[in-house]
Amino acid sequence: MPDNCLFCKIIRGEIPASKLYEDDEVLAFRDIAPQAPVHFLVIPKKHLSGPSAVSIEDEQLVGKLMRIGSEIAAKEGVPHFRVVFNNGSQAGQTVFHLHMHILGGRHMAWPPG
Ligand code: 5GP
Ligand code: ZN
Repeated sequence: MPDNCLFCKIIRGEIPASKLYEDDEVLAFRDIAPQAPVHFLVIPKKHLSGPSAVSIEDEQLVGKLMRIGSEIAAKEGVPHFRVVFNNGSQAGQTVFHLHMHILGGRHMAWPPG
């Protein structure tokens, strides 16, 4: 768990977050700068720098992010939602701890910008 990783700090409780779900493997919390009426992040507690760092042993964990995220989206009242994983700075990644964005509650344009 890198000391200087923002999301590891949220996991450790060193930085507050509006938590929606937590278990021993996964944490979900609201994005601090929401880009839609509902915008939250689902992250593994294991530090992985992004999608490119996912290995075979993480496959089940990454699937769990999607299941948990979908369940939270339903509870939040947004059965239609956009799922985003940014990988690398050119793709818009700013926090280098794997995270799944879920955005809902408004129309989503395609393709994304
Ligand atoms: P990325 O651009 O890396 O895909 O997404 C990082 C996300 O983390 C951004 O949507 C940003 O608003 C969010 N974020 C950055 N710092 C914090 C924080 O301290 N707390 C929360 N809840 N979200 C954050
Ligand atoms: Zn981390």
